[in-house]
Amino acid sequence: MAKNITALAFSTLFIASLLTGCATTTSQVATPEKYIIDSETYQASGKSQRIKTIVLHYTVSNNARSLKTLTTGQVSAHYLVLDSNDNKIYNLVPESERAWHAGNGGFAGRTILNDTSIGIEIVNSGIQPKYRQALKNGKLDYHPYEHYVEFDELQIKKVGQLVQDLAKRYDISPKNIIGHADLAPTRKIDPGAKFPWQRLYIDYGIGAWYDEFDKQFFTNQDEFTAATIPEIKQAFRDYGYQINDSDEWDKASRDVIYAFQLHFKPQQPTGEMDLETYAILKALNNKYADRDDFY
Ligand SMILES: [Zn+2]
Repeated sequence: MAKNITALAFSTLFIASLLTGCATTTSQVATPEKYIIDSETYQASGKSQRIKTIVLHYTVSNNARSLKTLTTGQVSAHYLVLDSNDNKIYNLVPESERAWHAGNGGFAGRTILNDTSIGIEIVNSGIQPKYRQALKNGKLDYHPYEHYVEFDELQIKKVGQLVQDLAKRYDISPKNIIGHADLAPTRKIDPGAKFPWQRLYIDYGIGAWYDEFDKQFFTNQDEFTAATIPEIKQAFRDYGYQINDSDEWDKASRDVIYAFQLHFKPQQPTGEMDLETYAILKALNNKYADRDDFY
């Protein structure tokens, strides 16, 4: 009985399909269940990590206030290094998600840094409170080295280990391990002059640092005295800094010099261009000539 009905249904269907052509046959293809992703059969070779940059910050705040701001506010970071006597580092945002730490700015051709970076906040007061007013009053353009607050030894050790691990996992180019000031020099000065970039380079092999030999070589050249402002600005651009193309050292351009000095000449950050700063910049460009991939 069941067999007869099936046979009848089939023959009716056959006749119907003869009458109406293709339209009826397509309606007979079984609708597949939900699609499946096959990630084993084929693989592309053109690919790279999404995370390209590590950005270091200081919080200008104590442990409790930093935690509150970074966990409940509109700013965040992937990692927080408190000023505490233990071996913990707090992971506040998963590495696969965006943390809101970089804001406007750019470095090495990338602008929306929150999309492609890991942010690390370190609890540190930044500028000592007694000096903060000097800048606000306009008595001072830039804070000297002495105005910044030291980092705790344990914090540096934690940051060194963490950045070493991240740089390795994401294969981050040395010059893309930067401070907030490097990507936003007109707005930010963190992690400041007392953040020991050179030590991290020596002790943990992370970040960029110039070779002394190259610096001496460029110091002895006459290039600096002959260099025009556009040429010097181009050297900043070659390294990765965003700098305007005006033909003068206006405030925005001096902010870039200051950010660079905080990083690479931290004991004398002045915001003024000088031979040593230029020699360091040329030495860095000489050592890190490689360009990123932008595909
Ligand atoms: Zn910052």
